[in-house]
Amino acid sequence: MRKCLVCEKGNLEKVEDIILEISGYVFIVLGERCTSCREEFPYPQETERTILVARKLGIWPEPLKLYRHLSRSGNGLVFRIPSDIERQFKLNEKVEISISKIGNKMIIEPESA
Ligand SMILES: [Zn+2]
Repeated sequence: MRKCLVCEKGNLEKVEDIILEISGYVFIVLGERCTSCREEFPYPQETERTILVARKLGIWPEPLKLYRHLSRSGNGLVFRIPSDIERQFKLNEKVEISISKIGNKMIIEPESA
């Protein structure tokens, strides 16, 4: 049994039910879990496989980083939502969105009706 590197108390036991959640999709992967702090360590090959699958599904965040210019309309700036994001989030002009500022990031979230 290997010792946990996080708490240095527990042992790592093999598990088959580590849950990775990416953009609302749930992946179950193999790995190890600490018997003490419950920290989970998916096997690297499992993580890689999950990333590959997520990329195929188009849900891995990395390619979703999109660059857009703002345009001005009247007194305000307009941000155009890319059409693939519009489809994925099922957005339309009736959907209310919230914008929160976290540090130097802006998070745009559709409010679920
Ligand atoms: Zn631990």
